[in-house]
Amino acid sequence: MTTQPSGGGGPPAPDPYPAVMVDAQVLDGMPRRLFAATPTRLTTWVDCPRRYRFTYLDPRPKGAPWAHSSVGAAAHNALRDWWNEPLAERTPDTAVALVRRRWLTDGFRDEAQSEQWREGIAAAVGTYVSGLDPSDEPVGVERTVAATTSRLALSGRVDRIDDRVGEDGERELVVVDYKTGRRPSSVEDARSSLALAVYVAGARRTLHQRSRRVELHHVPTNTVAAFEHTEASLARQLARADEIGDEASNAQTVWRETLQRKAEDAKAGDLDAVDAIDAVFPPRPSAACCWCDFRSSCPDGRESSHSLVPWAALGDSEGQGPPGQLGAK
Ligand code: SF4
Repeated sequence: MTTQPSGGGGPPAPDPYPAVMVDAQVLDGMPRRLFAATPTRLTTWVDCPRRYRFTYLDPRPKGAPWAHSSVGAAAHNALRDWWNEPLAERTPDTAVALVRRRWLTDGFRDEAQSEQWREGIAAAVGTYVSGLDPSDEPVGVERTVAATTSRLALSGRVDRIDDRVGEDGERELVVVDYKTGRRPSSVEDARSSLALAVYVAGARRTLHQRSRRVELHHVPTNTVAAFEHTEASLARQLARADEIGDEASNAQTVWRETLQRKAEDAKAGDLDAVDAIDAVFPPRPSAACCWCDFRSSCPDGRESSHSLVPWAALGDSEGQGPPGQLGAK
């Protein structure tokens, strides 16, 4: 599930599966330690190792909640609950009612804006489910799947897994991910998504059925961007996951063995300690830092980005300030 604004860097979604080292048996019978990770964890490392440290190893206070996260959470929760309703209740009206019931007011400018967005996304979710067959029960809704590589124990929660008949007449599992940002998803988004590839591998491993197709369902526009993985494209994505996992795992080892002890000194302003930590967990400042939950703890990010009001991703740009301004967050 993703609730970031489309086209922006966006804050990472909460990671419910903290990384640990787990034992696994490899083919030669010797136990090998695997690095346990989710796609969110891996992409957080790629986006910014400093943000990875603040998220998983060295917690910092987060900024104010985002309105677009409230919109995304309400839509995702309503679409999950809709499938838990009795068959006769799986109607567009029920979907609209579920969004209203699940609504969160966090991050909106005021009550009027919150209500406007609540009714807008409720109508979109109602339209979206009107295109579904309520009797076509998914194999999984917010289903956790897992897969291993030679170096990683991967897991993730999939918005929906459908069991459909493929073009060749054979049954296959289809990974469905809901999107609620402003921009409709593209085929390239579906093709390049590390998370969706991991979900395919996890669906195969967890449900023991063929899977290759991934779909991004953009709820506000009721459009679908799909991609069919080949064995080669899936292998490329899992190799990429291995590389990222190796980097993150190695950095965590250095953190545990040497850097963690320097963290307090760094907070107290010891520049040698700051440099040592930044060498392993460097910041990756960019304009997208405006969406980072840890911008207030990150001078590099503040210098590189505008401050945003919590409802900025809804399309209202008021409240933006110049780069480096300490504003809304
Ligand atoms: S503000 Fe930017 S550079 Fe700083 S931690 Fe966040 S993403 Fe990284």
